Amino acid sequence: ESELIARRDSVLGASYRLQYRRPVHFVRGEGIWLYDPDGHRYLDFYNNVPSLGHCNPEINAAMADQANRISANTRYLEPRLVDYAERLVATFPEELSRVVFTCTGSESNDLALRIARLTSGSEGVIVSSHAYHGTSAATAMVSPNLGDAVKLSPAVRMVQLHGPAGVPERQAATFFEEQVRSAIADLNRRGSGVAALVIDSIFSSDGVWVDPPGFIAGGVRAVREAGGLVIADEVQPGFGRTGTHMWGFERHEVVPDLVTLGKPMGNGFPIGAVVGRKAPMDRFGATARYSNTFGGNTVGIAAADTVLTILQRDRIPEHAHAMSERLRLGLEHLAKLHPGIRSIRNAGLFFGIDIGLDGAGEAGRRAMALDIVNLMRDDGVLISTTGANEDTLKVRPPLICQAEHVDRFLEAMECALKKAVAQV
Ligand code: PMP
Repeated sequence: ESELIARRDSVLGASYRLQYRRPVHFVRGEGIWLYDPDGHRYLDFYNNVPSLGHCNPEINAAMADQANRISANTRYLEPRLVDYAERLVATFPEELSRVVFTCTGSESNDLALRIARLTSGSEGVIVSSHAYHGTSAATAMVSPNLGDAVKLSPAVRMVQLHGPAGVPERQAATFFEEQVRSAIADLNRRGSGVAALVIDSIFSSDGVWVDPPGFIAGGVRAVREAGGLVIADEVQPGFGRTGTHMWGFERHEVVPDLVTLGKPMGNGFPIGAVVGRKAPMDRFGATARYSNTFGGNTVGIAAADTVLTILQRDRIPEHAHAMSERLRLGLEHLAKLHPGIRSIRNAGLFFGIDIGLDGAGEAGRRAMALDIVNLMRDDGVLISTTGANEDTLKVRPPLICQAEHVDRFLEAMECALKKAVAQV
């Protein structure tokens, strides 16, 4: 194992980080379970890409069938491409009526930024203070989560979500709007103007800030008044993760101008999209000639089409909502029984659980969260951390998880919590 790690480091380099103190190797996935070479199984409560389960047989069969017939691009007539585009767009508010296909979330955000800049004639972008929006040059420049590793664009302004020390929930909306207004004023002073406010409505890399629903509405209004577009990055909350809605922005009762999709869209096959209002999408299409070799290829569309069919046919978001209630109640119960859980936030099956004992500093809280993640891994349950201080557990199981899986997770969490507290 250590030899493989050394070879890996030597050929792949420092950016390829391994998860967990004791790295894992999986040879098979099935539903919510991952199997190592020795046949041990791990409960995957972390990966939100295979939302409908690892190696979903129905999706795999659809992809294999398509790949065995033809894998082609969007320059040919293909009924399924059009059918899927219509069905996808029908899940959005009616103002959002156009779609362009990509291969990744980063490509989707990159394209959305181009459309916003062309439409507004401005450069400036507003993002949350720990946002992550992608790997390309343009999206990395609007991703403060990458830290010192990447230089943000001078035309990027960051907004806090709940104040450095946390403001009461009922003030979150006013706080957010004030932050956005001051960012706009600053961008205007600089001469950049505002092209876009980009928001992941579940604020996954900021530490999962989901409440109160609607708190982003004032900021959205302010950006529109300033001539900017609103881009909802649905790579994390999209496709039913929030349980109550298909799209995360719907919880906040706003209608964005552009919406970017990725991760669970193909349940693991790389496919993404930008869905948007007619005017900016058509103007961009007419001037920029966007073409994407692999985006919208027939195999990806077969995967995405089957994903959407299963989501709707099996009422997956409703199921996710029911499971999230069970998980939330279980976590609240644990928080009463044991010290170490400071707060629990969730929208559907996306949880942020703040960890730390009373009086512990940032380093202590971060260390305890990391201990819990690794103790749970040793117990066969996979999660990770998020947030400004990485002291928030990030928990997002596939949407098909069942009550027994939630209970198994809670059992492992209780065990890890007790051990982590005892170690302090
Ligand atoms: N936006 C958000 C909110 C993401 O979490 C990610 C990936 N973690 C991306 C965009 C980029 O997606 P991809 O890695 O598919 O390019």
